Amino acid sequence: MTRHEMPAFDGHNDVLSRLHAMHPDDPAAAFIKGYDAAIDLEKARSGGFAGGFFAIYVPPMEVDTEARHAAMEQSGYDLPLPPELDRGHAESMTLEQAAILENLATAGALRICRSVGDIGSAIDDGIIAAIMHLEGAEAIDADLAMLDRLHDLGLRSIGPVWSRSTIFGHGVPFRYPSGPDIGPGLTEAGERLVKRCNELGILIDLSHMNEAGFRDVARLSTAPLVATHSNAHAICPHARNLTDEQLRIIADSDGMVGLNFATAFLRPDGRMIPDVAFETMLRHLDHLIGILGETRVGLGSDYDGAVMPEALATAAGLPALRDAMRQHGYDDALQRRLMCDNWLSALERIWH
Ligand code: ZN
Repeated sequence: MTRHEMPAFDGHNDVLSRLHAMHPDDPAAAFIKGYDAAIDLEKARSGGFAGGFFAIYVPPMEVDTEARHAAMEQSGYDLPLPPELDRGHAESMTLEQAAILENLATAGALRICRSVGDIGSAIDDGIIAAIMHLEGAEAIDADLAMLDRLHDLGLRSIGPVWSRSTIFGHGVPFRYPSGPDIGPGLTEAGERLVKRCNELGILIDLSHMNEAGFRDVARLSTAPLVATHSNAHAICPHARNLTDEQLRIIADSDGMVGLNFATAFLRPDGRMIPDVAFETMLRHLDHLIGILGETRVGLGSDYDGAVMPEALATAAGLPALRDAMRQHGYDDALQRRLMCDNWLSALERIWH
């Protein structure tokens, strides 16, 4: 991949779980040759997708996905939290997706990055820079031995919960309209997880946490606070989005928020349909920047994990987002920060 004029570094994608579901036997071949996905090598190259957080994610079992999607196309829904996962199942799924990431690295499709230096080198070399991220810590046991093992494999970012409960805490449901103040905060094991992540230099992602869990992490963590893929609740009052008060807490910690492209978290009516104009995304960016400042906002696409706006259906559309930023009046330096540089600076502060 030749170095793109303005690389994009992104806070969240679900490439690994998509490859796991669609091409478990030879994921690297599918990724390199191209397949029915938002991110593969060709789409990354044409859109200047330089890397980001590659989530390991275990989909819910015993859940009618089609019915959930149909409900979320309406304005107004309240989906129950999916059931908790069996740890054995979560562990095997997690290790299989970690192996897919390793497989992609071995095939030369990307590089697993453990430091900001690694990310900078990969971008300079024109190779996708991948951070191993765990979205929902079901695979990790209460004594955290698995956390150390995954850290050895390259894990540098973790969301203690997806939108369901774990032994560590509780996620927000897919509910619109709703605030995030739903349910209790971290468990005792969750508090230990936060401390151990601080010790290991693993980023703690607040994106799926409820407000009590958010506050617990804010109180306990010694690192700047991060929501890798969440939007402004003031514009789209979804339970998954961040209230102005949460944004101020993140700003005070010198943390970071990645703009989620998932249409249910962008549209003011919360509908999960592809009809979203760039103008709506820019309203969120303006609002996030208004509270967090120009240096603490970036991208958090959710590619391959959510319904995207038509114009951003795949990573090949990223230059159109940058064009929209320019037309909106963001200068070159701000575009560069939002597309890439803010994430790298934030990771410098968080991983230290
Ligand atoms: Zn997510």
